Amino acid sequence: MPEKIFIFDTTLRDGEQSPGASLNKDEKIQIARQLELLNVDVIEAGFPYASPGDFECVQAIAHEIRGPQIAGLARAFPKDIDAAWEAVKAAANPRLHTFISTSDIHLKYQMRKSREEVLEMAVVAVKHAARYTSNVEFSAMDASRSDIAYVAQVFTAVIDAGATTVNFPDTVGYAIPPEFGDKIRYLMENVPNIHKAVISVHCHNDLGLAVANTLAAILNGARQAEVTINGIGERAGNTSLEEVVMSLATRKDFFDYYTDIVTQYIYPTSRLVSKLSGMVVQPNKAVVGANAFAHESGIHQDGVLKEASTFEIMTPQSIGIKKSKLPLGKLSGRHALREKLKEMGYVLTEEELNQVFARFKDLADRKKTVFDEDLASLVETEVLFKSVPEYYRLLELVVLAGTSAKPTATVKMEIGGNIERYSAFGDGPIDAAYKAITHLTDSTCNLLKFAVSSITGGTDALGEITIRLEDGGLTVTAQGVDPDIVTASARAYINGLNRLRFMKERGGRGKKPEEMVE
Ligand code: MN
Repeated sequence: MPEKIFIFDTTLRDGEQSPGASLNKDEKIQIARQLELLNVDVIEAGFPYASPGDFECVQAIAHEIRGPQIAGLARAFPKDIDAAWEAVKAAANPRLHTFISTSDIHLKYQMRKSREEVLEMAVVAVKHAARYTSNVEFSAMDASRSDIAYVAQVFTAVIDAGATTVNFPDTVGYAIPPEFGDKIRYLMENVPNIHKAVISVHCHNDLGLAVANTLAAILNGARQAEVTINGIGERAGNTSLEEVVMSLATRKDFFDYYTDIVTQYIYPTSRLVSKLSGMVVQPNKAVVGANAFAHESGIHQDGVLKEASTFEIMTPQSIGIKKSKLPLGKLSGRHALREKLKEMGYVLTEEELNQVFARFKDLADRKKTVFDEDLASLVETEVLFKSVPEYYRLLELVVLAGTSAKPTATVKMEIGGNIERYSAFGDGPIDAAYKAITHLTDSTCNLLKFAVSSITGGTDALGEITIRLEDGGLTVTAQGVDPDIVTASARAYINGLNRLRFMKERGGRGKKPEEMVE
């Protein structure tokens, strides 16, 4: 029978200690709700004694979240523990988590206390906490650099005092997996009352070993993993939840353990935490990185299209991604291109596909990754809009703009053979020009994208405007190029309108690309 590994999420406590990350109360509650969906066992909501703001957040989460246990962190001082209890006591299942350092280096330089004094403080703190609740966790800070026999002595004493979880942190990210596993094994064998408590581990990633150390600990008897979403946390971060959970899930053949995590919520949770904390996920991050399911090599792409398991050890769907991304590059073959275009809604004849493929290879030589928009514009220029009639033509554009003028644009156009003119105000000259063109053409389309780039350097550079328009379910991209950026914008818009009109008459071809996962 596989044994359960408890997932203790500290995104809101240690994760929030990431340099550069900070979350307000609403954001923390939003993340806590998401962690509840993900079905973590424990949410460490904060450090209530640290600040009134932290206290309030922990209290709000304790009130609202009903599924997971809610833990509050406290130093081994009665006043810290009192504050933590005040904050978590409304929870359906509150936990008090108290800690003290056990390494000689911390005792000597930071605390200036003897081992006996620290042992006494730990016991007093746990007894104090145990008066409030039977759900008490004790952490031996810097445990991995502590004398293991002393940690075993402290654990024995705190379990006697009422601790039900004993945490062995690698606070400074110093441990090496086989060594860390051996220490957990030592505790299993040398703490006589260890069967009355769960061993937890809390690892940091200073050497990139947090997940490996956590897994080594699990193999040796640890049954709780302290983790964060995206591995955020102090310095190089904490053990990442998604990596531990997916390691256990993917290698069931090797690990005889399970978690209660609903893995389909991993990706949405990762996105939410990244968005709210401002901590960007590196593209090559395991499990949740933008490239985690992106296959670049032609051989891999071909394999994945034929049978995903050829190069995918877990499915993107299992962590909540709709489908795996196949970014196309210069190594991509015709098969991958055809599949990609089909996914985007373009079904081409063999001859059309060959034309597009040749142009695609040129483009891929110049650009490392060819994005959906590049492909759409390629298909549109090579195939769909080769013979788009110029129903709308720009004849003249005059704009008035600057620091003290209300931006105004006067546009003269030829529309189906008739000459028409209109002037409009706008928030800027481009806005004014678009309003004038919209009025003249009676357009009802939406502007989905507007991007400016310069083709060459210098102030005399050609400006290139790329836009994407949508009307009645049809979408088109269009470009406009001119040394004057306002004129380039107007040209792009008019090109887009001509394409939309052409598509409508043709009965539509090229539907809106399916929503792609970011
Ligand atoms: Mn930590």
